[in-house]
Amino acid sequence: MKKIIIIGYGPAGVSAALYLKRAGLNPLVIGKDLGALDGYSDLVENYYGFSEPIEGRKLIQSGVVQAKNLGVEIITDSVISLKQGEKGFIVTTTTNQYASEAVLLATGKTRQTLNIPGFKKFRGKGISLCATCDGYFYRRKKLAIVGCGAYMQHELEYLNRVSKDVTVFTHGHELTCTVENDVNTAKIIRFIGDEKISHIVTDQGEVPVDGVFIALGVPSSIDFASQLGVIVEKNNISVDENYQTNIEGLFAAGDIIGGKLQIAKAVYDGMQAADSIYSYLNK
Ligand SMILES: Cc1cc2nc3c(=O)[nH]c(=O)nc-3n(C[C@H](O)[C@H](O)[C@H](O)COP(=O)(O)OP(=O)(O)OC[C@H]3O[C@@H](n4cnc5c(N)ncnc54)[C@H](O)[C@@H]3O)c2cc1C
Repeated sequence: MKKIIIIGYGPAGVSAALYLKRAGLNPLVIGKDLGALDGYSDLVENYYGFSEPIEGRKLIQSGVVQAKNLGVEIITDSVISLKQGEKGFIVTTTTNQYASEAVLLATGKTRQTLNIPGFKKFRGKGISLCATCDGYFYRRKKLAIVGCGAYMQHELEYLNRVSKDVTVFTHGHELTCTVENDVNTAKIIRFIGDEKISHIVTDQGEVPVDGVFIALGVPSSIDFASQLGVIVEKNNISVDENYQTNIEGLFAAGDIIGGKLQIAKAVYDGMQAADSIYSYLNK
């Protein structure tokens, strides 16, 4: 039986693994890919220690290599179920089953994309998936945010600080939260522009924009946690001050617990969770 299994090798999972390994524990880390930044070439320029912007994917990759170099066991596989065993937990992946005394969920959040013509073309050229990451570049610009629920509301709070002209586009969905901004409920047909996006074309006409932020849904990777009866509020796993969920021995860190969806915060969470897990396993 393992002492601790970490699900996810993004910044939160790897940060926790580094601290736990150095504390003398041997965490097993299971992840299915590089997480939020997998497959994107977006540049990160708000994380400490890089004099030049670094590709997000490369930053995450080098965290994984750093952990491996320290001797952390890392497996690439998808976890499909998490259950409580007689003592601790049973983690089932597509190829194997593991038992452990404690589990850290560091599974991040899946940001939804849009299957709308022009989305891929203008991603990074006026279309962004992260208001906190890119909103600053659109100060005082004419902005749109596409979404209709709690996640959109969270991202909108940030955008409202950088521009007084932010319209919410629900893309035909019903708005499920309260906002003070203008709301456009038309269905989006396509995004158009030259080098950069210039207009959103809806079934009710064209709207000029300088920037579009996508904040639809956010179905997080919390499905297997829910199987255990973990408390989830507004798509975030609830944890106490020790990063422990309502289930003893089950911890969570990073994007999955909400707050700022940023690398620095995920790294911090991982470190703090590692501390609590260490105390839990040694009590
Ligand atoms: C396009 C984009 C640009 C961004 N730019 C910035 C930026 O400039 N600066 C910044 O600070 N932040 C940025 N972010 C946010 C940042 O990427 C996240 O806040 C950070 O990666 C969260 O770390 P995490 O470890 O919580 O989750 P993630 O990095 O998402 O990692 C989640 C891990 O869990 C694994 N996982 C999930 N489900 C399973 C499963 N069922 N089985 C096994 N493994 C699983 C994944 O494979 C992955 O390894 C950006 C995000 C996006 C999408």
